Amino acid sequence: MSNHFDYIVLGAGYAGLTAAALLAKRNKSTLLLESHYAVGGCASFFRRKHFFFDSGATTLSGMLPHLPLGLLQKELDIQFAVAHLPIGMIIKTEHGDIHRYANRVQWLQECMKVFPHKNQERFWSKLYELEEKVWKIVGNNPFFPPANINDFLSLIAPKNFPNITIIRGVFSSLYQLLRRYDLHNDKYFKRFVDEQLIISTQNYSEQSPYLTSAMGLTYPSQTYYPYGGIAKPAQMIAEKFDQMNGVLRKNDAVVSIRYHNAIWHIETEKGKKFVSPTIISSIPIWSMVKLTHEKVQEYYRKKAEQFHFAWGAFMVYFAIESSEELPTAYYQIHTQETIPHCASRSFFVTISLSDDEIKAPRGWKTVTISTHTHSHEWFNLTEEEYERKKQQTTDFIISVFNKEFPLLRHSNKEWISSATPRTFSHYTRRFSGFVGGIPHSTRQNFLTLPHNVTPFKGLYQIGDSAFPGQGTPSVVLAAMNVVQRL
Ligand SMILES: Cc1cc2nc3c(=O)[nH]c(=O)nc-3n(C[C@H](O)[C@H](O)[C@H](O)COP(=O)(O)OP(=O)(O)OC[C@H]3O[C@@H](n4cnc5c(N)ncnc54)[C@H](O)[C@@H]3O)c2cc1C
Repeated sequence: MSNHFDYIVLGAGYAGLTAAALLAKRNKSTLLLESHYAVGGCASFFRRKHFFFDSGATTLSGMLPHLPLGLLQKELDIQFAVAHLPIGMIIKTEHGDIHRYANRVQWLQECMKVFPHKNQERFWSKLYELEEKVWKIVGNNPFFPPANINDFLSLIAPKNFPNITIIRGVFSSLYQLLRRYDLHNDKYFKRFVDEQLIISTQNYSEQSPYLTSAMGLTYPSQTYYPYGGIAKPAQMIAEKFDQMNGVLRKNDAVVSIRYHNAIWHIETEKGKKFVSPTIISSIPIWSMVKLTHEKVQEYYRKKAEQFHFAWGAFMVYFAIESSEELPTAYYQIHTQETIPHCASRSFFVTISLSDDEIKAPRGWKTVTISTHTHSHEWFNLTEEEYERKKQQTTDFIISVFNKEFPLLRHSNKEWISSATPRTFSHYTRRFSGFVGGIPHSTRQNFLTLPHNVTPFKGLYQIGDSAFPGQGTPSVVLAAMNVVQRL
């Protein structure tokens, strides 16, 4: 195998897989380097006997034909095995269950029933309108945000005029929008909105820009359940990459990225060396600091300092013996108090559908639970202290789960385990176990996030620590844009 490639892509999560497959489709010799033995990154899996567990992400969205995952499937001529869920999510609150119906009319009826206010309809219409316009801007403009004068000129097109004004929603918070609709005083509604935002924009209504909040609050209309787990579509992209003569090298981490004589030199942990004029990195900015040198390292160091905060995730996994037909796969549970050693008063539950016999044999389901935590809670501890904290958090989450799912309370639970930022840092090599990208705020919004184009010739940054941010549709979009640029 030659060690010279047209393109080298770093990291085989959704971002890297997309970029690599699209380049291979264009007949470019492409190498994809991945440190783990499996692809998927934060959207990967692990196996215990007959059970497949999603290790981080669980939900797909952005699947409509004009949205990133829809476009990707078309371009690669593949079709993911997914179910569109009529109830995108059920939120279990102290006042009762809230059904996020995919159907907008049904959702509005539910919303009016739970949070009666004359402005609800106008508020949600505004959010759906913003969401559509955002996709029109980012979907139709691969060079957005502009990296140079040509990109800027390409944006001055008549197709953008009706939508460009929405950009002001980047500098104004959702809380301000709530005020405009006189919805900010309803504590119950505000809590509902905040808990939905923390799992989508990674921030609460006071900080989260209303533009990205609109994307986060409307996504349950388009929630897709991937059969076999969220790693399955990722594996499908990897297979397609292989069929198109792409070279995927797993189980070998990149340890050095150096620019010398107009070419990028990559070195791996196992001592392999590869070169290419163009590198596309999906390794998060914080981890890039350690891998790069000189000016490039300085660039990433500055970015890492500027965007110094991201959340960590605490996870609980188990298999449960039950044939119960549940109304949906996705739930958000509000808790009365903050979850021990975490920074949240809610957790997100994914329960495999009963007809998903890839994830669990008939009569069983797998459960993946996630919540937000501060990474520093889990490092620099003795092993005993670490295990004790982990157990406390796991016990708390399982006890609330049992209360909220009375039908499953007495079911046999097996393979109970949990994961912390330390686990993510080990398996995905994400610095400090930072996951979910950079929280969106009016100060650090998607226009100020690290650009996909770096100041260095032939070096591009994708993945959830760069524009447009976290989530599989976002990272797929950026990868598609970069390939189009190339
Ligand atoms: C708990 C949790 C729940 C989430 N839920 C959802 C959800 O339901 N839906 C959704 O859309 N998004 C969700 N997200 C966000 C989503 O998972 C991520 O934003 C997205 O998967 C990031 O993809 P990526 O390719 O940018 O990065 P990653 O998935 O992190 O991929 C980067 C890859 O690079 C590899 N790598 C790192 N360092 C090196 C190195 N030195 N050498 C070689 N390879 C390296 C890693 O192993 C990894 O495979 C969730 C995230 C978490 C943590």
